[in-house]
Amino acid sequence: MSHRPLPFSRRQFLAGTAAGAALTLLHPFSARAAAGQAHLRIMETTDLHVHVYPYDYYSDKPRDTVGLARTASYIGEIRKEATNSMLVDNGDFLQGNPMGDYIAYERGMKEGDMHPVITAMNAVGFDASTLGNHEFNYGLDFLMKSIAGANFPIVSANIAKKEGANPTGDQTLIKPYTILERTVTDGAGAQHKIKVGLIGFVPPQIMNWDRRHLEGNVTTRDIVDTAAAYVPQMKEEGADIIIALSHSGIGSADHSDLMENASVPLAMVDGIDAIMTGHSHLVFPGPRYDGFAAVDSKAGTLHGKPAAMGGFWGSHLGVIDLMLETSGGEWKVMSFETKARPISKRNEDRSITALVPSQQYVLDSIKKEHEATLEYIRRPVGKTSAPLQSYFALVADDPSVQIVSIAQKWYIDQMMKGTPYEGLPILSAAAPFKAGGRGGPEYYTDVPKGSVAIKNVADLYLYPNTVRAVKVNGAQVRGWLERSAGIFNQVKPGSADQVLLNPSFPSYNFDVIDGVTYQIDLSQPSRFGPKGKLLNPDASRITNLMYNGKPVTDEMEFIVATNNYRASGGGDFPGAKGDTIVYEAPDTNRDVIVRYIVEQGTINPTADANWTFKPLPGTSVLFDTGPKARDYIHDVKGVKIEPAGDGPDGFARFRITL
Ligand code: MN
Ligand code: MG
Repeated sequence: MSHRPLPFSRRQFLAGTAAGAALTLLHPFSARAAAGQAHLRIMETTDLHVHVYPYDYYSDKPRDTVGLARTASYIGEIRKEATNSMLVDNGDFLQGNPMGDYIAYERGMKEGDMHPVITAMNAVGFDASTLGNHEFNYGLDFLMKSIAGANFPIVSANIAKKEGANPTGDQTLIKPYTILERTVTDGAGAQHKIKVGLIGFVPPQIMNWDRRHLEGNVTTRDIVDTAAAYVPQMKEEGADIIIALSHSGIGSADHSDLMENASVPLAMVDGIDAIMTGHSHLVFPGPRYDGFAAVDSKAGTLHGKPAAMGGFWGSHLGVIDLMLETSGGEWKVMSFETKARPISKRNEDRSITALVPSQQYVLDSIKKEHEATLEYIRRPVGKTSAPLQSYFALVADDPSVQIVSIAQKWYIDQMMKGTPYEGLPILSAAAPFKAGGRGGPEYYTDVPKGSVAIKNVADLYLYPNTVRAVKVNGAQVRGWLERSAGIFNQVKPGSADQVLLNPSFPSYNFDVIDGVTYQIDLSQPSRFGPKGKLLNPDASRITNLMYNGKPVTDEMEFIVATNNYRASGGGDFPGAKGDTIVYEAPDTNRDVIVRYIVEQGTINPTADANWTFKPLPGTSVLFDTGPKARDYIHDVKGVKIEPAGDGPDGFARFRITL
């Protein structure tokens, strides 16, 4: 199949609009279809993650970048203008925001209950969907009850309840594929029958990611092998064209067994005409995929076949236009065009402009659940036995950082089971996100002892990062901490009231590593500059670095739980430059914290003072923090601290005696 540029480019379409060419307006692409040719528009949503309302339930604020209610505006427009259209979803609809958690943890799914995202999808009207990896997060029973309410087929070919000798012999968890019979109108107005085959795939890694729900219940197969087995069978059953719903990203062109992001080699499978992709939360066609082998990131093709990825959370609608031609009862794809339409745009001043309004019928379909979710995020979901505050996060081991570390370690402990890394010591790295600075004297996490609400978790963990594990040695752990310790100015032993913090060093790069103990010697120069540049290769501020009470040697091996930003080189930390990643979690750090709180009921974020400053007799330093810090001064462990009056701009000043 070859791609040739279509006469109806977007510019020509707009020109047609200006000229008021009504016919062209109604059927811009279809107008080109001749007798025996039909234009079919296939629309895709992917990775909705329960985002129906344009609302951020973590921060409890409207948000113009998300929501199926917005994407539905494009869907409605296209249905009006296209002669023939279909709408598919690419999976990851059931989990990923507090509405999903509310249904799973609070309201529950009893037999016959409707899941709100399914209700909204029914309202919009989908032709088919597939399962994403996150569909399994709440267990198989929850999944099956949720999808029972869908009035569209949901397909997935590579998950088996019972494996046969080959994929087509499997007893699959749900239907592997569906063949939909549709009537299309050709360029001459004649109607034709066409059978559209849709087959779904999930990353086989769900067996690791949701081991506790899946082990012993299902198994997974390689995406490409499964496709190669089923597609001929679909052809035999009469599928005229076949579209893969690949909840799998665009990655390497080289097929390797059980690969996670298999959409490129999947496109090589004979008989597949178009590929809907997802899972990566990116946009295709788009520059993110420039330079990928066998990928045309502008034309939107994988091995020359049309493909689209509609972002995530409803941010984009993926659209593949197929010009089909029938002859002798067979349909062929003559040409195509692919794009991804964004629902919002980011302006130069970083503000966001919505490009489409919400569709009221979509909002109305789950208004009750939206309101229940608002109530849920504002209500306690657990308790904390100590205040969760970050006023002293840069000068002492701190509860707001500790709780993130605890939850990450709890999660990575589970994920390392059954991997080659099981048994290695697991450390956890976390940094304070809200720690004053340019955010001002109120810019701190401050949740009093007692109830914790979902909203508070967003406050603890500002960014939608996902969890990573890296495998590092003792030297790298030390280097990582040396890099962190660059936040402090070098102090002169024996001098009083020196300024402690370097203001050009952002707090999110001050990683505390939990699971080891260490001291920071402020009398030494920093090994690294504030951006990670190696300044003094021989300098060392980290002393008494111990694991289990024994000195950490350069050769010791550790797993460090962290986030995707750090693990892939953010901040340029030793041991975290992208080449040490051993585990890429599908879950966000925020989700992991929520899950941890819900499972524990009461959390204890009390810091364990695993790091302190090395004592320097006769030396003191000053640091500024929010004035509310005065309420917590007696909770701070491992550091001698006293009020020292007011700082500038509404900050309060404190003195630390080293
Ligand atoms: Mn996803
Ligand atoms: Mg600690």
